[in-house]
Parts: sequence; structure tokens; C-alpha cells
Amino acid sequence: MAYRAEYIWIDGTEPTPLMRSKTKIVPDGDEPGLWNFDGSSTNQAEGSNSDCMLNPVYTVPDPTRGGNDVLVLCEVLLPESLEPHSTNNRAACVEIADKFADFEPLFGLEQEYTFFKDGRPLGWPQEGYYYPAPQGPYYCGVGAVEIAGRDIVEAHTSACMAAGLSISGTNAEVMLGQWEFQIGPCGTVEVADQIWMARYLLYRISEDFGVNASISAKPIKGDWNGAGCHTNFSTRQMREGYDAIIAACEALGAEGKVEEHLAGYGHGYEDRLTGQHETAHFSQFRYGVGDRGASIRIPWQVARDQKGYIEDRRPNANIDPYVVTRLMTNTVCGAASA
Ligand code: ADP
Ligand code: MN
Ligand code: MN
Ligand code: MN
Repeated sequence: MAYRAEYIWIDGTEPTPLMRSKTKIVPDGDEPGLWNFDGSSTNQAEGSNSDCMLNPVYTVPDPTRGGNDVLVLCEVLLPESLEPHSTNNRAACVEIADKFADFEPLFGLEQEYTFFKDGRPLGWPQEGYYYPAPQGPYYCGVGAVEIAGRDIVEAHTSACMAAGLSISGTNAEVMLGQWEFQIGPCGTVEVADQIWMARYLLYRISEDFGVNASISAKPIKGDWNGAGCHTNFSTRQMREGYDAIIAACEALGAEGKVEEHLAGYGHGYEDRLTGQHETAHFSQFRYGVGDRGASIRIPWQVARDQKGYIEDRRPNANIDPYVVTRLMTNTVCGAASA
């Protein structure tokens, strides 16, 4: 007998990569090993030299197929040398995670996204002016007027749980058709692997409903919330005392660090970080307790307990989480080691 391994990878589409996957039938007893694909069809190679390699990095049971079938998240390598491909942001993330392993970094990522059907957000009217009633009743709402897509969300959550992901919650968001799931707390590389796996499951399951899930950071212009990926972060020192919490905030605001981070916080952050819709303007760095209009929020409970974690509210929904968790780990742990 044999089982199916769905090889999943991140392509080279700009400015925001797409996910790709293909199926390999693996004989029972064999591991899903290195495989190849045509990089000229994924913006990862020239047609004349098109082979790219898929290196399995994270394998889970496949909840969509069941049985012995698996999902295999891969990093992309160059042929022959087996060096990381230029689109592979995981390799640099692993390097920084190893360098600062003593800090025991933990992350919780809040992935926001928007369902689309027939060219408009799910649940938005098909007639008249195409806009629903203004934002207000939708966040954590209940009822057929307030909510669109819950059946998909429930199927996705069950799939993440069955796959063994560290999904820690879900909620309906401020714009009708917009939702969030959280992954964490887990380590610098693990949380990013799991976000990609959870995104794959979201796209794959939405497909069965004839719906497209989008991680666009500002799916609808105007007075509608953007979509972010708030990044909650702690080191062992931050989980033990408040000085390390403040030091982390200061490190993120240091000369050059604000620009370095924003460059890795996702395409179109200028459209989302406007200073409205629970964001700080991208040009202004500020941290504060319980402040959802700040760049970095120190949760109220953390200030009370004098230990815990911080929330970077700036990352877009469309980030590469390998880039963001690398930046956070490097900046905060680097400053603490200096
Ligand atoms: P919000 O109030 O901003 O909506 P959420 O409940 O959506 O917050 O997400 C908070 C995230 O923070 C969760 O994923 C949780 O696992 C994570 N988290 C909790 N404690 C820590 C910690 N010490 N370090 C890092 N992340 C943490
Ligand atoms: Mn949240
Ligand atoms: Mn949210
Ligand atoms: Mn948040």
C-alpha cells in the first residue's frame, strides 16, 4: 500500500507570494524525501534551468484526506548545491532562532484574513450600493446579519486541531467577512511553519465552499478595517520581569530598527498603518499599556503582573512570518545580549 503526501511550498510571486502544492504517492514505510518542481511556472526559475528542490521541513497528518495521508511543508532549495533559494526566508529564520535559542523566544501570531466570493467580501450585498451597514456589529458577532462564513471557519479550526497545530483561538473581525485565527505560543521557526500550514488549510478548505480567503492587508479602501498579523512576543526574561518588557519595546524603537522592521512587515503597510482603525501611523513609533493605537501594545494584564509579553501591532496579514519572527528575535535578543 501507499499514502499521499501533499508537498506544499511558498512561491516567488511578488509582491506577495502564493502557496503551491502537489501530490506524491509514497510507498508505505518510505519517508517523503527531497522532490523537485518546475520553478519557471512559479516565478522561481528561468525556463532554461527550471528545476527547484522541495525539502520537507514540517509534516502533519492531512485532515482533508484522512487515513495515513500527510501534509508536507517544504523549503525551496537550489538544485545540486542544495543552498536556500532566494525566495526561501526560512533558512535565515532558522539561523537567528539557533543563535538566540537561550532566550527561549515564544510567539503568538494573530492571522487576520477576508473571505471573498463573486468579487466582493463574503456576506456583502450583491445589489444596491454593494456596501453593508457600517462597522460596529461584526466583531465577535453572532447572527446571520452580523456573520458570514462561520461554517468555513469551523471546518478550518477543526482541520488545524486534527493536524496538531497550536491553534489557540478564532474570532470574527471588525469588517463583515473578515476573521482571525491565532497560532501559538510557540518558537521562532515553529510558529511561522504553523502559520503557513494553517494558511494552506484555510485556502484548501475555502476552495470546497467556492470561497477565496485573502490575506490582503487593505482589502477594501475607505472606512473599513485592514487585516493584520499582530505578533505577540516574549523571551524567558520578559516572562520573568518587567525591565525586559520595556527593554524589548525600546529595542524595537531604536535608530534604524523601525525602518528595518517595516520593510519586512508586508506589502502595502502604508495603506493599513494610517493611524486609524486601531493602528499607529507607520511613521510614528510608540508603545503603551493597553494602547491599541500604539505600534507596540503592552497588554494591561502584563503591566499588572509586571511580566509576560508584548504585541507588535504593525505586521500586515500578508507578511512572511519567517521574516517577522526573525526580525523580532534578532532585534530584541540582540539588544539584550549587547
Ligand atoms: P488580542 O487581544 O490582541 O486580540 P489574541 O488573544 O488574539 O490577542 O492573541 C494573543 C496571542 O498571544 C495568542 O496567540 C497567545 O497564544 C499569545 N501569547 C500569550 N502569551 C504569550 C507569551 N508569553 N509570549 C508570546 N505569545 C503569547
Ligand atoms: Mn486577536
Ligand atoms: Mn484582530
Ligand atoms: Mn491583537
